[in-house]
Amino acid sequence: MVVLQPEDRVPPWLVDERHGLEVMRQLDDGWCAALDRGTFRCGIYEQRPQACRDFATGSRECRTERRENGIPEESPTGWAPTESAS
Ligand code: SF4
Repeated sequence: MVVLQPEDRVPPWLVDERHGLEVMRQLDDGWCAALDRGTFRCGIYEQRPQACRDFATGSRECRTERRENGIPEESPTGWAPTESAS
């Protein structure tokens, strides 16, 4: 779940409320509603929330999440990990 901060400016149709917090809307399968499922890229990249900006593509945390969710560590569009796994 991506919790939004007051300074985040994401399209309103992608915002939900959970437990009194504004969060990115998730689809029934748990994926963020802003994700382009064809490319696994953010559909609102320039407007993505700060929490997403802080979670660097290819970082150890990113690769761990991808691995745990059955997503290849390297995307079909070719980004490479930014640091070596340890
Ligand atoms: S980077 Fe984009 S697609 Fe990924 S969680 Fe954030 S808003 Fe959703």
